[in-house]
Amino acid sequence: MERDNKSSDFLHIGYKLLNWYGKNARDLPFRQTKDPYKIWICEIVFQQTRISQGLNHYNNFIKRFPDVRTLAGAEENEVLLYWKGLGYYSRAINIHKASQQIMNDYHGVFPADYEEILKLKGVGKYTAAAVSSICFGGRMPAVDGNFYRVLSRIFADDFDISSSRAFSYFSQLAALIMPENVGDFNQAMMDLGSEICKPKNPLCGECPVNDDCLAFSLDRISDYPVKTKKVKAQDLALKYYFVHRNGKFLIRQRKDDFIWKKLFEFPDTISEDLEPFIRNVKTVTHKLTHKNLTIEISNVEVDSEVVWGRFIAQNHYLITDFEDSHDKSFPKPLENYIQNALKD
Ligand code: SF4
Repeated sequence: MERDNKSSDFLHIGYKLLNWYGKNARDLPFRQTKDPYKIWICEIVFQQTRISQGLNHYNNFIKRFPDVRTLAGAEENEVLLYWKGLGYYSRAINIHKASQQIMNDYHGVFPADYEEILKLKGVGKYTAAAVSSICFGGRMPAVDGNFYRVLSRIFADDFDISSSRAFSYFSQLAALIMPENVGDFNQAMMDLGSEICKPKNPLCGECPVNDDCLAFSLDRISDYPVKTKKVKAQDLALKYYFVHRNGKFLIRQRKDDFIWKKLFEFPDTISEDLEPFIRNVKTVTHKLTHKNLTIEISNVEVDSEVVWGRFIAQNHYLITDFEDSHDKSFPKPLENYIQNALKD
């Protein structure tokens, strides 16, 4: 669509959003603070997790790691443990590394500048913009999927959100409606996108900017946002052996970052002399971003002390008690498997 580049023509939209946010802001624990550490953690936690699902995890995480220093000094496995249930464990690893970066490179003081925040491990443009605007008065829009959707609907703009230029395009579009108070504006857009201008069935009747929304007035909301590229999920088959004896089972920690980096897993091969001890085989499916996993897990109950001892001696697996397994972070399907095994 043709647009006038003068931001003043559209600025009233941003003020309407601020006004609406002033009256309707969600009452969330991290809204009562400007502590950049807490805002940063909450932005990472809630990137892929609904507030209702992640709130307890966020509160527990902050309770155990209330500041950068505590997090930086913690063992990585404990950080992973407190991330349990949130998935995307690479984020927890990055948060931990970034906290050490803050201790080492910034004397333990969270950097205030957008460009400096961007240097932290695992921090992208969205998070850097959110933290700098909410905590330090920075003036960058925190452009994410909510911005893409809301802006493309307001302007009935058919720019492809799967394009590599989408971020810079929608940043410019956001600048047209962005008032002085960018921190509140960013949060208003987050709330509008999740509560009102939802991907499906947006509540246009309750929307503070429905008078200004071109897609609404044209009755073409379902046409926006435009997305052409769909990433095809890759099918992946995995095999595991739940090798156990007298309430103990074998595990190891993953090193590669293909999937589930640093999480614990079961052996993926066994020696021939263990094969007779396979009791049953269960197949489970699990979806990751862009991956469909089919996981075959064999239940290997080793009745022989000799075979058990030999297998352990020949491999570098760790032995863990069923009861102690909750001290470690496992991928969700393996965690479920252990929980079921505990019930049997
Ligand atoms: S009027 Fe509807 S489509 Fe337009 S911004 Fe509001 S909720 Fe979204």
